[in-house]
Amino acid sequence: MQTLRDYLTRARLVLKTDYPEPELNYRQRGTTAGSARLQTWEIRLNPVLLTENGHEFIQDVVPHELAHLLVYRRFGRVAPHGREWQWMMTDVLGVPAVRTHRFDVTSVRSRTFTYRCQCKTAHELTIRRHNKVLRGESQYLCRQCKSTLVWDNSAAAISSPGDLIPDQS
Ligand SMILES: [Zn+2]
Ligand SMILES: [Zn+2]
Repeated sequence: MQTLRDYLTRARLVLKTDYPEPELNYRQRGTTAGSARLQTWEIRLNPVLLTENGHEFIQDVVPHELAHLLVYRRFGRVAPHGREWQWMMTDVLGVPAVRTHRFDVTSVRSRTFTYRCQCKTAHELTIRRHNKVLRGESQYLCRQCKSTLVWDNSAAAISSPGDLIPDQS
């Protein structure tokens, strides 16, 4: 991809180091825009968010993830969005050091909501049923314990819009 090559060329010149070109693929899922696989020198982009946001997505996400790889190569394991990464973004790649993405994740967000009952079974309700519960139009019962299902807010918090956090595994 041309954008990736342009930023890489810039980094090579500024840092006077011949970094190899990372592998670029479209395997990122969920609400995360992209991720950097440090060990395999790989950048993953979210194909849905890329299609929906086009040029802006490339401009934001590609330098962000490339900076993670370059920081790892130069400094080893440091804080994901710490001083080194911020320096790489602003001073080397010449872009603002923005940590989180601003793209609409409606289409990639999980469309089910987790409910619990007294026997602690997790029940996944569709957004349609969930809205009925919120409006007080319906209640749903667990088939096993016959208790009313209650929305588990803690599960909802986990699936909130993603950061561009790199994969540290
Ligand atoms: Zn139950
Ligand atoms: Zn990041």
